[in-house]
Amino acid sequence: MGTVVEQEIYGINAERCAESAVQEINRLQNLWSTFLPLSEISAIGRYAGLRPVDVSLETALALSMAKGYHRATRGAFDITSARLSALWRDAASGGRHPSRSEIDEALSFAGSGNIAVLPGNRVFLRKKGQRVDLGGIGKGYAADICREFYIQNGIRSAMINLGGNVQVLGRKPDGLPWKVGICDPKGPRDNIIGYIEAEDCSVVTSGSYERYYEIKGKRYSHIIDPVTGGPVSTDVESATVISPSSACADALATACVVSGTGRSVELIDGIPGAEGVIIDSNGYMHVTKGLKGLVKLLK
Ligand code: AMP
Ligand code: MG
Repeated sequence: MGTVVEQEIYGINAERCAESAVQEINRLQNLWSTFLPLSEISAIGRYAGLRPVDVSLETALALSMAKGYHRATRGAFDITSARLSALWRDAASGGRHPSRSEIDEALSFAGSGNIAVLPGNRVFLRKKGQRVDLGGIGKGYAADICREFYIQNGIRSAMINLGGNVQVLGRKPDGLPWKVGICDPKGPRDNIIGYIEAEDCSVVTSGSYERYYEIKGKRYSHIIDPVTGGPVSTDVESATVISPSSACADALATACVVSGTGRSVELIDGIPGAEGVIIDSNGYMHVTKGLKGLVKLLK
């Protein structure tokens, strides 16, 4: 994740809570890093096709959720796109495009159907060479854990922002809902064009504008289309999903970028409790039914 953590917590245990939340986020980051050879996610990949790996409860749960969102998004959310992400990242850092055969090879290791989450928190990737990457859901999962942690410590009003992955607990201390900004995906960084009034929910935005590779002067999304094996190039400029669960909002936001505007609205409508705002490449804002009137535009 390697994320900047911003927290606003009100209550007597606020300071201690903030420190513990950061520790918890770091712990999950260490379990799930694709760069640390000793992370659980790396171990799962290393033993792919060989044997199940004992993992912590959080890793087993996060992988189960990821499998669920793979089905719910009809394959758009696919954590087994890990090898494709690595391929594009490495090729981009060498200033070149991956070749078709490299893409096809990496694609042959994709498929969330091959992830087996077994009783006793054991995980087995059935295909040798397969890899997984929780980058599209991990921050959301971590934000949910932080919220639970706040509640257990008697906190009733808090906000945590993990690099664009916002979770709010209760209302602000002044009794008003929290305001979560929506950025202009085409404007200067962090240029807010509107906001959502939020209470006890998570607001997560994905978009190719926030992280991308550049190859020969052209920008490529960090989100992979699991069908083509290439970076997505849909008409979704940014997808903001609101849901009581941050892991849900995180996975759906990533899936929306893959799915395109039309299918995104349908996708969000199909998930109970989820709402969303999609900004398309023409700058139009598409808002799901339950959110109509609740997105406040500046200007
Ligand atoms: P997010 O910023 O939440 O949209 O997640 C993007 C990250 O998720 C990428 O940097 C990859 O680590 C991973 N990823 C890329 N493509 C996908 C995909 N189609 N499904 C799930 N995770 C993905
Ligand atoms: Mg995501």
